[in-house]
Amino acid sequence: MRNIAVIGAGMAGCALARRLVDAGLSVHVFDKGRAAGGRMATRVDGRRRFDHGAQFMSIRGNRLAAMLVDWQRAGGVAPWPQATRSSGEGGVRWVGVPGMNALAPRLLWGAEVSNGTTVSAIGADRLGWWLACGSGRLPDCFDAVLVTIPAPQAAGLFANCAGVDATHFAETVRRIRYAPCWTLMLSFDVRLDAADCLRFEPGGVLNWAARDSCKPQRDAASECWVVHADPQWSAAHLELSPGQIVSLLFEAFAAALGVTAAPVHQAAHRWRHARVVEPLGQDCLWDGVNRIGYASDGCLGERIEDAFDSANALADRVLQTGAGDG
Ligand SMILES: Cc1cc2nc3c(=O)[nH]c(=O)nc-3n(C[C@H](O)[C@H](O)[C@H](O)COP(=O)(O)OP(=O)(O)OC[C@H]3O[C@@H](n4cnc5c(N)ncnc54)[C@H](O)[C@@H]3O)c2cc1C
Repeated sequence: MRNIAVIGAGMAGCALARRLVDAGLSVHVFDKGRAAGGRMATRVDGRRRFDHGAQFMSIRGNRLAAMLVDWQRAGGVAPWPQATRSSGEGGVRWVGVPGMNALAPRLLWGAEVSNGTTVSAIGADRLGWWLACGSGRLPDCFDAVLVTIPAPQAAGLFANCAGVDATHFAETVRRIRYAPCWTLMLSFDVRLDAADCLRFEPGGVLNWAARDSCKPQRDAASECWVVHADPQWSAAHLELSPGQIVSLLFEAFAAALGVTAAPVHQAAHRWRHARVVEPLGQDCLWDGVNRIGYASDGCLGERIEDAFDSANALADRVLQTGAGDG
């Protein structure tokens, strides 16, 4: 096994690519986004930077802790002291610098990457695995295809897979459930009189708000805030327009913090599949006969580390299978 297709370039796809490239395999990563990172996303607007997906990474296991040493040495991550809890497991909160999406390109070194490519179908024939996007079949063939996209989209690929029956994968990943999240990005030309990180009681409009501009290597003067709506509120307002969401969330934010200043920048982003609420409880899926696999946060939990661990579990399976290939 030499030539691997990875679909999705979030933490799971990137971590998988890193392991397989390091093992000497040829890896091609496809992602529909303009940049790699997935839900570890950063939106840049001039000097303003908003991590509008994952806010930070906490670490509980040895595997991610070991990687973190390298990433920190290379300047890819730094602790976020303002969000760090003084005690408990995973107390230190780590952020990508200068943005949460900074880790993805580091992990992808050595892999071929096609951004802006939405994979709409997969299949296998006598030449191996092929992928298709809107404009038709892609030219390359692969020895294995590894899917790392959120479960509802993955289920569609598995259910319609040509040449190999992957319906059992489709049925399995459909068990993973997500909660949505509307995110508000705000910037002010004055400093708000508020703590850097705020968590709100469940059941209201807001879930979390943080001064992103106090993260390491950000422009502290840009007074950037990221506000996450409550999951239930997000679900109830999922189909509103971004403009409507900006008004509603800003009103709630201003009332909660006593803000009277008007923002100089505001935007909303909808995450339909933001946080996993029902994971699979299985570290990954791998069919070593047909060479098709699945990894994502949803296999194990709701955090970046879960995506990382799932990817590494799948990489272990792929490499064990490949070792018998000669
Ligand atoms: C608002 C929010 C806040 C969060 N906060 C935290 C936090 O503080 N700490 C924490 O640990 N975790 C947090 N998370 C969760 C964390 O972001 C995820 O657990 C993790 O990033 C998931 O990684 P993944 O690789 O499994 O999936 P993703 O990051 O979703 O990656 C999947 C990739 O697949 C691509 N894709 C999808 N469909 C296709 C297709 N058909 N073809 C090609 N590409 C496709 C997408 O563009 C995406 O890049 C948060 C998430 C959100 C949304």
